[in-house]
Amino acid sequence: MFELPEFVTLARQINESLTGKRIQSGGLGSVAHKFVWYNRTPQEFAALARGKTVGSAYARGKWLSIPLEPSLVLLLGECGGRLLYHAPGAALPQKYHLILSFEDGSALTATTQMWGAMELHRSGEERDRQYIRDMRPAPNETEFNLEYFSALIDDVVRAEKKSAKGLLTQDQLIPGLGNAIAQDILFAARLDPRHPIDDLSVSQRRQLHRAIVRTVAAAIQRGGRYDEYDLYNQPGGYRRLMDKNAVGRPCPACGAKIAKIQCLGGACTFCPRCQR
Ligand SMILES: [Zn+2]
Repeated sequence: MFELPEFVTLARQINESLTGKRIQSGGLGSVAHKFVWYNRTPQEFAALARGKTVGSAYARGKWLSIPLEPSLVLLLGECGGRLLYHAPGAALPQKYHLILSFEDGSALTATTQMWGAMELHRSGEERDRQYIRDMRPAPNETEFNLEYFSALIDDVVRAEKKSAKGLLTQDQLIPGLGNAIAQDILFAARLDPRHPIDDLSVSQRRQLHRAIVRTVAAAIQRGGRYDEYDLYNQPGGYRRLMDKNAVGRPCPACGAKIAKIQCLGGACTFCPRCQR
């Protein structure tokens, strides 16, 4: 699944390759998929998209907004799979869940892996959508400073018990993070995924905040994770330290054997010696 660094990378690449192109035709789905959330019928989508021009795309959390000017915004969110640019004359994939064909012969296709939203909104209305309306500051935004982060932890622990992994991956408390990048963040912060956040010391809070901001920035800078693909069908350059291949290998910090546990419904790779 795409996480914040992948969405930021896709937005940047759309602005390099697609902004200013005029849509000749748009369509939804060459194949049915019951976990794609559409808000338009294929007929409505085609009629609305025709003749629009791609504006400047941007990402917030796990949501990518692509203005189709003058009046619409294509919203892709909570998805994985492929979002691909096809140069004029290039072969298109057989299966996709959304396509925009441009007047110069190039195209954009989206194919989701598990689920995801592919919605076309009137400009501005997308900001009222569930999950976007009340989105908290994301780690690549200036509001996500230590003071904000510490207040967020205070709020969360007042309401419920939460582990460090839960803080990073549940309920979009920190928009854009997912299970993949969370494991590198927890390693950088030297925190066990199960560590309860209500007993984090001031310095642990600072360390976790720094780990979130730096890990996300590094993954954005390298064009997303190596196990996801960018707009040009190339893997990202951010190699995760704590992915499944790390299990059984020596920890890069202390040399202990990297372990795997199940935590909050997913596998977690971590160092049992230095992550406490
Ligand atoms: Zn270690």
